[in-house]
Amino acid sequence: MQTTSATVDASLSAPRLTDVELDAISERFETWSATDIVGWTIETFGSRLCVAASMADTVLIDIATKVDPDIEIVFLDTGFHFPETLLTVRKAQQRYQLNLRVERAKPTVGDLFTLGTEGCCAARKVAVLDRVMAEKDAWLTGLRRAETESRANSAIVSRDKRGVVKVCPIANWSDDEVNAYILENDVIVNPLQHQGYPSIGCWPCTSKVAQGEDPRSGRWAGSGKTECGLHL
Ligand code: SF4
Repeated sequence: MQTTSATVDASLSAPRLTDVELDAISERFETWSATDIVGWTIETFGSRLCVAASMADTVLIDIATKVDPDIEIVFLDTGFHFPETLLTVRKAQQRYQLNLRVERAKPTVGDLFTLGTEGCCAARKVAVLDRVMAEKDAWLTGLRRAETESRANSAIVSRDKRGVVKVCPIANWSDDEVNAYILENDVIVNPLQHQGYPSIGCWPCTSKVAQGEDPRSGRWAGSGKTECGLHL
């Protein structure tokens, strides 16, 4: 968790940001606090920015709403969330008075039982986020390098596959730093975190994980699938 205070370079405005500039900003952000990174992102992208929230915990929501209480929070409702996750949404909404946007696939869209897990994630997560991002220039996400091997080299700032700028203000936080922030700020945490689910997705595709196992090994367990496609 970085605590360095930083000033915003106003010369780096969104439309002019090339991939080389994004790489340079990302490098610079390694020593910035998450709050300062969120502040830069809000100042740079304004209302064409949102936070994508998984509701495994509300660390990023806590950080972002302290910078801008009205920042748009997007929750993708796949139709298969655990009741505990939906409870976390309601608790966060109550506590932060969120500018919350819940997005769903069309009712006619198939599910994992008809499309398989790849098709279901594509239809109920990726396509829904694509629809949201069509009107955005940037998004904030709580993705962290420590979560799993495939995320170990994630940049703090990058251009995603849609061409939209993806900002991960806590990418370089360790698990201990997240837990410390949760304690210090009394952050709302999905109750499943304390019941053997360190990584929480949809109920048909999330299993309990034993102590010491890869935290994401409970996602699509035994299938070889490790990501829903939102980030890769
Ligand atoms: S995690 Fe499972 S239920 Fe959720 S969108 Fe993906 S395949 Fe469907």
